[in-house]
Amino acid sequence: MKRDSNMDWQDSKRFVSHLDLDTFFVSVERLKNSQFMGKPLIVGGLSDRGVVAACSYETRKFGVHSAMPMKLALRLCPHAIVVRGDSESYSYYSRLVTDIIAESVPVMEKASIDEFYVDLTGVDSFFRMW
Ligand SMILES: [Mg+2]
Repeated sequence: MKRDSNMDWQDSKRFVSHLDLDTFFVSVERLKNSQFMGKPLIVGGLSDRGVVAACSYETRKFGVHSAMPMKLALRLCPHAIVVRGDSESYSYYSRLVTDIIAESVPVMEKASIDEFYVDLTGVDSFFRMW
């Protein structure tokens, strides 16, 4: 695709991407404790009304998913390791990722602790992708 033939089309469009960090809480817990690598891990509350805040792919194949009652999650995947959430760590690592994204793109917006919108309009010419 030649760049010149797309100039009008590109000039009138904005290119915004949504970035969602994959299993963010699980990834942070694994950074803090490498023994969790490759193991079925659930982050969430263990009280009677506790829910799954995040879960690893090793638990998802048993049907576990976010926002599920913890009791049900542990019935589906009884061998899962459960850790309580650590909002301080998640905020810390979220800030690290935010800084990396902010240094890498001209315009970004943080939508949540693990979600971002990045405006990539014009970045194609910088990287000569077209
Ligand atoms: Mg996510």
